[in-house]
Amino acid sequence: MLRLPRFTLIDATTYANAAQLLRDHGAGELDPAKGTPSLRVMTVAGGTDLFPNMKRRQFTPEVLISLQRVGGATRLAVNGTLEAGAGVTLATLADHPQVRGRWTALAMAAISVSTPQLRNAGTIGGNLCLDTRCNWYDQSLFWRGAEGFCMKTHPEVVCRVAPSSRRCLAVASADTVPALLALGASVRVEGATGPREIAVADLYRDDGIGFLGIGRDDVVASVSLPDPTGWTSTYMKLRDRGSFDFPLVGIAAAVRWDGDVVADARVAITGVGSRAMLVDAGAEALRGGRLEDDAIAAAADAIHKAARPMDNTAGTISQRKRTARVFAERALASLRQS
Ligand SMILES: Cc1cc2nc3c(=O)[nH]c(=O)nc-3n(C[C@H](O)[C@H](O)[C@H](O)COP(=O)(O)OP(=O)(O)OC[C@H]3O[C@@H](n4cnc5c(N)ncnc54)[C@H](O)[C@@H]3O)c2cc1C
Ligand code: SF4
Repeated sequence: MLRLPRFTLIDATTYANAAQLLRDHGAGELDPAKGTPSLRVMTVAGGTDLFPNMKRRQFTPEVLISLQRVGGATRLAVNGTLEAGAGVTLATLADHPQVRGRWTALAMAAISVSTPQLRNAGTIGGNLCLDTRCNWYDQSLFWRGAEGFCMKTHPEVVCRVAPSSRRCLAVASADTVPALLALGASVRVEGATGPREIAVADLYRDDGIGFLGIGRDDVVASVSLPDPTGWTSTYMKLRDRGSFDFPLVGIAAAVRWDGDVVADARVAITGVGSRAMLVDAGAEALRGGRLEDDAIAAAADAIHKAARPMDNTAGTISQRKRTARVFAERALASLRQS
């Protein structure tokens, strides 16, 4: 049995307080041994990803700032728009009738995350900030010690997947992120300079280590989604085990209708790079016409081109690349109006 390392747990009362506590304990400072931002202090929400990672010693923070008791963290306001505190659980989003009916891609993505137990504890904030994954990294300390460490935990070592790569190529694997991209979501972040709003499309960097475009002393406080009137949306993922697993490829698509013509569209992909991304060329292929086979094929071509998987998760490169096209076709075809 893998045991957790020792740590001190501090309860934050607000997200601003959590950001302050992170700074007080040295978040954002450089780790003198590694020359990378310090992981001496981290936040924990549901702990469904963080604790297994700590057991495998992927990181060993001395201090954890718990977001469990943050006031208003689980507030979910659904009117024309949707505003969810970062502590809203994935189960809540997956089960909510209005989320399912109006922001369908988000509910579909949330229900596809791991297992019922983990969806009951796992939060939307934790999913947005989920660590990137790699076959060389998501292993026990014993395994990594025997096989050899890699750049993600030991900056002086090469990347084992692509030894000539100057950056880590670990894979974005959070299911809700492509759905939030397709739905035009933004997040409110609390940090040293107070609260600020960031589009989800601007939240990530193409870097398996520094994958979040916010500081280590920043905290995601809430997620906002615009009014989806006129839009339909969906999410589809390929995974090893149908009962629970991370996405090998995840595709989210949203279409705004003007009669039977696509007035606007967004398509997003995850699982094939260090960040989930909108594929603008895919959306462009759909705008201004009916959702006919040729438009779908052109959009799927663009998504196939954008997918650049590496050999660092389950599934082969060619399987994941091909899946990007096939799932894009299926996702878009499912949005056709009957
Ligand atoms: C067996 C298993 C299967 C899984 N399958 C999937 C899957 O299919 N799809 C998927 O997407 N995920 C999967 N997960 C991962 C995880 O369960 C979910 O991503 C979950 O949403 C994480 O939320 P959490 O609240 O538990 O985050 P935590 O584990 O508490 O935190 C995750 C990370 O986010 C940071 N964090 C948390 N909240 C915030 C915040 N408000 N602001 C800034 N940083 C924050 C933490 O510091 C940590 O780095 C799986 C996990 C396991 C163990
Ligand atoms: S992509 Fe390379 S550096 Fe990143 S976790 Fe995998 S092996 Fe390590």
